[in-house]
Amino acid sequence: MHKQFGSHEVLRGIDLTVNQGDVVVILGPSGSGKTTLLRSINFLEPADSGTIELDGETIEIAKATKQDIQGIRKHTGFVFQNYNLFANKTAEQNITEGLIYGLGLSKNVAKTIAQDVLEKVGLREFSHHYPSQLSGGQQQRVGIARAIAAEPKVLLFDEPTSALDPELVGDVLAIMKSLAKAGKTMVVVTHEMGFAKEVASEVVFMDGGVIVEQGRPEEIFEFPKEERTQQFLARIL
Ligand code: ADP
Repeated sequence: MHKQFGSHEVLRGIDLTVNQGDVVVILGPSGSGKTTLLRSINFLEPADSGTIELDGETIEIAKATKQDIQGIRKHTGFVFQNYNLFANKTAEQNITEGLIYGLGLSKNVAKTIAQDVLEKVGLREFSHHYPSQLSGGQQQRVGIARAIAAEPKVLLFDEPTSALDPELVGDVLAIMKSLAKAGKTMVVVTHEMGFAKEVASEVVFMDGGVIVEQGRPEEIFEFPKEERTQQFLARIL
C-alpha cells in the first residue's frame, strides 16, 4: 500500500498480512503513518495504490468501485480515537443507524442487535442516553458496540484509549481483551504497551511510512533487532 499527501509519502509500501483471529498491534512514533494505514484499510482515507485482500477477494485500490468499498466497510468495524458518535442520537440509535441505513436491516432487528452489543460492553441500561450524558469511556464503549454490531470480519482500532482520562482506560481495554479472547480479528494502533504485551499475537513497528520490524510481542519487546525499534522502545518503556 502506498499513500502520499501532496509530496509527502506517508505510506511507502506497506505489506501486512493479518490472519483470522490475530490481534495485530501497530506501534510507532507519531507521524509514522499508523492512523493513515488503518484508515486506508477501510477506505476512510483511500491509499493511492496497492491492493487489499479480504477473505480471498483482492481489490486493486486505485480501481476500487463503490461496491468494492462498501464490501470492505461491511466487513470491517472501525473504532475511532474520538469515538465519532452522533451527538444528537442515543447510544442505541448510534448503533442502529448503520444497521438500518447501511445494511438494510429492519428497525426491530437493528434494535435487538443494539441491545445485545450494548449488553456486551456493559451499557445496556444506557441505551437511551445521548453521548453528552456519557463519560468518555462509556462513549468509547458505544463506539466499540457500534463497530461489532454487524459482526465484521476485522475490527480496526485507532488509538481507542488515547483521548480518555487515565481512570477510564481500563474499562475500554478490558472490552478489547474480551473481544480478543472471543477470537475476533483485530488491528490496533495503540500506545498501551501492557495491552500489546498481554493481548497481541503480532506486534508491528512502523516508522517513516514503512514496517521496520514485526514479530511476536516477546520478540519485539525483549529482542528488537532493528535500531529504530530499540530506540523507540527505550523511550516509551
Ligand atoms: P501516526 O498515526 O503514526 O501518528 P498519521 O498516519 O496520523 O501518523 O500521519 C502520518 C503523516 O501524514 C504525518 O506527517 C501527518 O502529518 C500526515 N497526514 C496525515 N493525515 C493527513 C492529511 N489529511 N493531510 C495531510 N497530511 C496528513
